[in-house]
Amino acid sequence: MTKHIFVTGGVVSSLGKGLTSASIGMLLEKRGLSVRMQKLDPYINVDPGTMSPYQHGEVYVLDDGSETDLDLGHYERFTNSPLTKDCNFTTGQIYQSVIEKERLGEYLGQTVQVIPHITNEIKSAISCLAGDDVDVVITEIGGTAGDIESQPFLEAIRQYALDVGKENCLYIHLTLVPYLKAAAELKTKPTQHSVGQLRQIGIQPDILICRCERSLGEDERRKIALFCNVPVEAVIEEKDKDFSIYEVPMSLVDHGLDQLIVSKLGISTGEPDLESWRAFCHRLRNPKHEISIAVVGKYAEHKDAYKSIYESLDHAGIENRAQIRIQRIHSEAVERDGPERVLSGVDGVLVPGGFGERGIEGKVEAVRFARERNIPYFGICLGMQCAVVEFARTVVGLEGANSTEFEKDNPAPVICLLEEQEGVVHKGATMRLGAQPALLAPDSLALAAYGREEISERHRHRYEFNNAFRQPFASHGMQVTGTSPDGSLVEIVEVAGHPWFVAVQFHPEFKSRPTAPHPLFIGFVGAAVRRHLGGAEK
Ligand code: GLN
Repeated sequence: MTKHIFVTGGVVSSLGKGLTSASIGMLLEKRGLSVRMQKLDPYINVDPGTMSPYQHGEVYVLDDGSETDLDLGHYERFTNSPLTKDCNFTTGQIYQSVIEKERLGEYLGQTVQVIPHITNEIKSAISCLAGDDVDVVITEIGGTAGDIESQPFLEAIRQYALDVGKENCLYIHLTLVPYLKAAAELKTKPTQHSVGQLRQIGIQPDILICRCERSLGEDERRKIALFCNVPVEAVIEEKDKDFSIYEVPMSLVDHGLDQLIVSKLGISTGEPDLESWRAFCHRLRNPKHEISIAVVGKYAEHKDAYKSIYESLDHAGIENRAQIRIQRIHSEAVERDGPERVLSGVDGVLVPGGFGERGIEGKVEAVRFARERNIPYFGICLGMQCAVVEFARTVVGLEGANSTEFEKDNPAPVICLLEEQEGVVHKGATMRLGAQPALLAPDSLALAAYGREEISERHRHRYEFNNAFRQPFASHGMQVTGTSPDGSLVEIVEVAGHPWFVAVQFHPEFKSRPTAPHPLFIGFVGAAVRRHLGGAEK
């Protein structure tokens, strides 16, 4: 019988529920269990794909083309749980599905209500991940206990234990225990109130994980235990990690969380096998070089907007024994101050994906700077399209070349709309999305990095390299080194004679793992380390 863990959050948002859930998933897998991960988001948007990165950070894309919340990125980076569209539901999707059923007459004229219709729909979203081959499903509830919009989700997880038996369910609540400087004390009251909210709707948390800046003392743990009605050993501290998020699982192990979870759920497993993770954390803490990589984007100030890119750089850095100082550069700053001012001294330049015209010219300038000065360049999706535009204008001599996304009638539309995208009006889930195969050309940096000819990578775009320009590009030194298997779509371009200039139409950052970094990121960071060490070239 599949066991269920429900992770809720309280006091404030941004406590790192996703990271904590992912860490729990990883620790259970290290005990040999088969785990599935899921996020339920109380907001009403039907798909996270159309939400602003300013508010929600990056949109994380799965193999099956689902556009999901960025917490699913944590799940994939920490666990082997296969993720599909069934792993992320929003209130909007739940209601949409209930309303569709109502329109089809499936409720036989009954009054359709939050309880039981919406809650049943939520419960079936949870149970669809359970199965004979699954030991534990971890369901994270977005938002904070007490939010109006979370209510139906909390009600559904409360009912879930009635349906499958309390012994098969575990409620973990993540809260904040703030330190008040003026009082020189950790304060437990917000946690008491937050647990109070949960108990009001009938959920008694089994385990409390307390985020804190300073370690909890025995007194505070006892106080929290007493007021929140949990045994003292179920009050687990999760202190802020100043170094790396990848140290979170080890600190949870040190506080006994994984042992507590399996014993409370009555699962018998051996001790977790943490050897390789420990070795990874050791490498992480002991880099041999320090390099700087500029990530030039439109949302530079928002640290979650390019989350998977930053993580992938870190993974490849650890592999190359390099601590990476990521410089988040605003593309409009490149326009305003010039690339020399903002980019000089960096060991590599990366332009990530994006939509819309703002800051485009700054990205094109950044590409030119990297290309002309032999600085390793990695272009991803829009970053590839900007590389093509720059090369067209500067090297091929196509004045005014652009993507039709930014200038519909330009003299050299080197990037243009995919034919199947003409006439699409709905914004959600209508792009070229998800895993697509591609073939790599011999003698390319891409082939050298992957070490195999056939690859599969995730996509999320509408525009594409315009094949009418392949020939002039090739004769000027920009090679197509990856295409769709039928050769019709350009997936990768490289600049001949440059130390490392690779630009890809897909999103490799969604497939990088801490202990299995993505080959292209390894290649890029490796080239940046070489440039750094050969400092004289700069
Ligand atoms: N805006 C571009 C397109 O739609 C690039 C998309 C992206 O970078 N994800 O093709």
